[in-house]
Amino acid sequence: MRILLVEDEMNMAAALTAALSRHDIVVDHARTLEIAEEACRSGVHDAVLLDRKLPDGDGLSLIPVLRREQAGLPIIVLSALGSPDHRVAGLDHGADDYLAKPFSTDELLARLRAVMRRPAQIGESMVNVGQLRFNLTERQADVAGEPLDLTRRELLALEILVRRAGRTVPRSALEEAVYGYDDEIASNSLDAHISRLRRKLSTAGVEIHAIRGLGYLLRTAS
Ligand code: CA
Repeated sequence: MRILLVEDEMNMAAALTAALSRHDIVVDHARTLEIAEEACRSGVHDAVLLDRKLPDGDGLSLIPVLRREQAGLPIIVLSALGSPDHRVAGLDHGADDYLAKPFSTDELLARLRAVMRRPAQIGESMVNVGQLRFNLTERQADVAGEPLDLTRRELLALEILVRRAGRTVPRSALEEAVYGYDDEIASNSLDAHISRLRRKLSTAGVEIHAIRGLGYLLRTAS
């Protein structure tokens, strides 16, 4: 998982980065709204952690901007402004969650997991790519109405590829999605799962394109 942390207090940012890194979460840090907006354009982030009192404005003002770039991007506000009114304002601005400072790393991790579980948008839990249809809520895939018979790991790999269809999914993100932290990962086992997926998707009108040195990308077959 790779997240964008928007936070101007360097101590806070360093502590959070260290804590999240211990859970294999890659953190990109932006100190201002302007830097955050630029960083978000890369489209590589799975979620955003957003402070409010930033040098160039209220973090909440960034939410509609981020939504225009990536509609389904989960956004959690982390703020010392923790009154009920502040929380309501944050959620009404479109944040997926609002965590008042101080908070524990465990709680932040649990909330991150919760927002990542939600389908990108209500009513958009079905993703279609070519003839492939993936139901993010039920975690089921079918090709032209025929259910696909996938192993658990193939399903996990396909889910992350589908969620980011048309974008490169880094190898590390795929490995993280497919394997638990304690699993031993043989160096080529991800590639083996991908080749089996390709075979099972041979009539789906999609291709899983290998981006050398980076990862994989799912798209409609050309
Ligand atoms: Ca601040």
